[in-house]
Amino acid sequence: MSSTIVRLILPLACAVTALILRYLVADQSPNNTSQLEFLLLQLPYILLALAALMALLSNHALEAGITISLLCAYWVIQSFLQSPLNSQPASQIFYLLTLLSPALMITYALLPQSSCLQLQGLLAVLLTPLIILLIAALLAINQQLFLSAATSAINNTVAGSHLSTLSWLLYFVAISLCLGLSLYQQQSLHNSLLGCSLMSLITYGWIQLNSVSAFMFSGMGLLLCINLTVSLLQIGYRDDLTQIGNRRALQQTAKTLRGPYTVAMVDADYFKKINDQFGHDLGDQALRVIASLLKQTAEGGKPFRYGGEEFCLLFKGKTEQEVLDTLEACRQAIANYDMVVRDKKHRPTKSKQGETRRGASKRKSNFRLTVSIGVASSDSANLNGSLNPFEQVLKSADQALYRAKASGRNCIQAA
Ligand code: GH3
Ligand code: MG
Ligand code: MG
Repeated sequence: MSSTIVRLILPLACAVTALILRYLVADQSPNNTSQLEFLLLQLPYILLALAALMALLSNHALEAGITISLLCAYWVIQSFLQSPLNSQPASQIFYLLTLLSPALMITYALLPQSSCLQLQGLLAVLLTPLIILLIAALLAINQQLFLSAATSAINNTVAGSHLSTLSWLLYFVAISLCLGLSLYQQQSLHNSLLGCSLMSLITYGWIQLNSVSAFMFSGMGLLLCINLTVSLLQIGYRDDLTQIGNRRALQQTAKTLRGPYTVAMVDADYFKKINDQFGHDLGDQALRVIASLLKQTAEGGKPFRYGGEEFCLLFKGKTEQEVLDTLEACRQAIANYDMVVRDKKHRPTKSKQGETRRGASKRKSNFRLTVSIGVASSDSANLNGSLNPFEQVLKSADQALYRAKASGRNCIQAA
């Protein structure tokens, strides 16, 4: 019952929001131009609120913190910076915004990822509202606070912008750091921070431009929504350990199949023994190696991690005969790969296994992996059962894999 209510809340909330917006835009504004202007001013709130909701629901504390900080900044601009910048308190608020915004970007780039429910994550989410409360309290106590620094900054701007040297310096650090991190770590968070740093620099640097804050903050909201969607899709469709598609991705790809195709099931041989002898961490490393060798060697095929130590290669538009040479190359590449046991960190948990491994590592410091492969194609599989065609091809490839195991492993069997 309660889940039915929760399921109804979202569509109803969307419908009510749409009606409220329609009332505010169409009924309260006299002409089309002011309706559009109103919508444009609300767009950053809508996009940033959407990004904040996505980040909070998916437990991305840093992204949630960034979106909430942008929401606060946009609200401050709309509420306090619509008067001349040399008036009070606009000058102090603008001065603080031009310093705090890049400083926050740097902070979020350097903070480690954490859950919204951990203290660190909660602090990341609430950082900007807390700073705003503190500044509001300080300004309420002393209205002249930061006034001389703000006046001198506004009178000494750099490069035709409204920014002081210190603000430019902070933006330079923020942009360089986010650029470096997004190139080096390839995380969507740093990519979002890079875009947000650039767009906030444009907003504050050229704040006198018509509607610049609405356009730039909409851009930031859109960027965060896109990057969050991409990272959620990756969580759903990519295997974390091997960084290739998972079983769900394979099923999704299968829905798009047209014409002939071939499927190969690739299963690591005696993998339980590898784990027992060398430890689970090295087992994980071996799975990464298999995935990477499949990716490099399986020309025309796409590798997926089917589950455990089992992989699936999907060859679109190819027949069984056409992929046999490629599969043989994959089998050999894996069998010839030297897995090196690097250090003593990879210890098995059970003491008995530990003894076995210690004995083994004295004798030998590397080992070889092998895989068995079963292959079937859309035209060779028996397509008369109750399963859908792709599942039947998978089943035939699986049966061929069993035969490969039975005939001594480290070989290929066709359906
Ligand atoms: P066979 O040659 O018949 O395939 O033997 P096997 O030992 O590979 O097969 P079995 O099904 O008996 O064992 C599979 C092992 O794979 C057991 C499990 O612990 C291990 N495994 C599955 N997923 C992972 C993983 O993500 N990491 C590691 N390290 N091991 C895994
Ligand atoms: Mg196996
Ligand atoms: Mg298996």
